[in-house]
Amino acid sequence: MENKFNIINLVRDNVMRMKPYSTARDEFEDFDMADIIYLDANENPYENGVNRYPDPQQGNVKSVLTTLNKVSKNQILLGNGSDEVLDLIFRAFCEPKVDNVITLPPTYGMYGVLANLNAIENREVLLSSDFQPKLEQIMREIDSNTKIIFLCSPNNPTGNSFSQENVRYLLKNFEGLVVIDEAYIDFAEKESWLNKLSDYPNLIITQTLSKAYGLAGIRLGICYASADVISILNKIKPPYNVNELTQRRALDRLGETEKIKFEIASIVRQREVLLTILPNLKFVKKTYPTEANFILIKVDDANKRYNELIAKGIVIRNRTTQPLCENCLRLTIGTEEENKKLIEVLKQL
Ligand SMILES: *Cc1c(COP(=O)(O)O)cnc(C)c1O
Repeated sequence: MENKFNIINLVRDNVMRMKPYSTARDEFEDFDMADIIYLDANENPYENGVNRYPDPQQGNVKSVLTTLNKVSKNQILLGNGSDEVLDLIFRAFCEPKVDNVITLPPTYGMYGVLANLNAIENREVLLSSDFQPKLEQIMREIDSNTKIIFLCSPNNPTGNSFSQENVRYLLKNFEGLVVIDEAYIDFAEKESWLNKLSDYPNLIITQTLSKAYGLAGIRLGICYASADVISILNKIKPPYNVNELTQRRALDRLGETEKIKFEIASIVRQREVLLTILPNLKFVKKTYPTEANFILIKVDDANKRYNELIAKGIVIRNRTTQPLCENCLRLTIGTEEENKKLIEVLKQL
């Protein structure tokens, strides 16, 4: 079966007709030229490090990303966190009160929030009991107004990755967009879908500097997709959505490859330590497999254990109200010292 995916059929009409907003700096991009006098953007001319508008296309950050992952600049869009990137995807492709998207709970809450905010119907298809997408049910929910399927892999809050066969099936058989949220990919064994970008025109991958890269505070989200998809998102993004301080800090950090690798390795090591200890605690009923920097556990009484931990000065995430997550708690992996403290406290409960 041939996938009849055609991006032109998916874009909202009003977005299709738009030209990208052109900034003063889009029209004259040669930032490096010496002795240029910039009198084009009504900035304050007195230098203080951030008196100029930032590069609207974040050329330097994208350059580093193109060398880290074999993609070209026109396949990258950056946003104020992945949350902005996800919102742009909704607004480019989903017509309010007409279109729908498919999400797979229990999963990241922002997909549902953004669907609601953009007046898009959110068709929820629960994951299976081993937290994999239920393909038949998903295909049954699809109609001519289904624009996007959101896959979070590794999934938050369950921690597991979706099987490659399941993801491939959806990429091949769904004629809308498949967004794979890879916020936790750096902690995973499985490789990123980035290498498959050229195989699937309907594939969008989102990543972030908020987790493994340790930059949650600067808000930098990354979207990788075909040049066609990226050019549509570029039309609607706020011109200066990634500020100058964020761009500089991201550049510095992306250069610290060894340090980042070391931190990820330590986090993964601490995760494995916890995975050996948690199943032996008597109030822990189940420890779920994880490829992320957190672990989901099922306990005897989530509310009780959650409050006990708070009383001991440890805050975790209570997921008991999420579908399939009754009495489940989500624990982020901290430093070795924090982990020791956590284990000590857990053993006392
Ligand atoms: C934490 C997280 C993100 C990150 O969002 P940012 O806005 O980039 O900080 C994205 N997706 C999932 C599933 C997450 O858990």
